[in-house]
Amino acid sequence: MAQIVEVNGDFELHCSVCGKKTASFKTIKGVKYRDNEERDIILYESMLSGTFRTDDDPDHLKQMLIEKQVDRVNKAVKELRWNEVDPKKPSYTYAVGEKPDLDSYCYKCNQVYCKEHFNVEYHGSDYGGIADGTCPNGHHRTLFDDTMSC
Ligand SMILES: [Zn+2]
Ligand SMILES: [Zn+2]
Repeated sequence: MAQIVEVNGDFELHCSVCGKKTASFKTIKGVKYRDNEERDIILYESMLSGTFRTDDDPDHLKQMLIEKQVDRVNKAVKELRWNEVDPKKPSYTYAVGEKPDLDSYCYKCNQVYCKEHFNVEYHGSDYGGIADGTCPNGHHRTLFDDTMSC
C-alpha cells in the first residue's frame, strides 16, 4: 500500500494497514517575515501529536517526500527544527525549537501507522505528556515525551 501520497502538491502519509491519513506535510507559500522577505514554510500535521511548522529550509524534506521513501522522510524531519502551532494560525508559535520525528513511524517495520494501529497510549501528567505506541508487529516505541522539554 502506498504510504506517501501526493495531493495537489502537498503530501499525506497513510497508515500501512488501513490507509487512513496519519500525517501530512503542507507547503504554505509566501509567508512574510519581519524583514519583509517572503518564504515558503512547511506545516507538519501529525494525527498523533499536533501541528508543527519549520522555518528551516525544507527543500531536502520535500525531495524525500517526492521520492516516497518513508525512512528518509523521517530522517529529514529530524534534521529540521519545528515549532508547534495552532493549525488555524500557523504564524503564531507556542513552543520553540522542538525536534520531533515522524511519530507514526515504526523504525523496525519501516512503515507508518495511524493512532489505532499504533495502539497509541497517552500518559498525561502535570508536567506534560508521554505517548507510547506498539505497532501491529509488536514493536514498541515512545512516540513523544513532552516532559523532557519542561
Ligand atoms: Zn490504520
Ligand atoms: Zn513495527
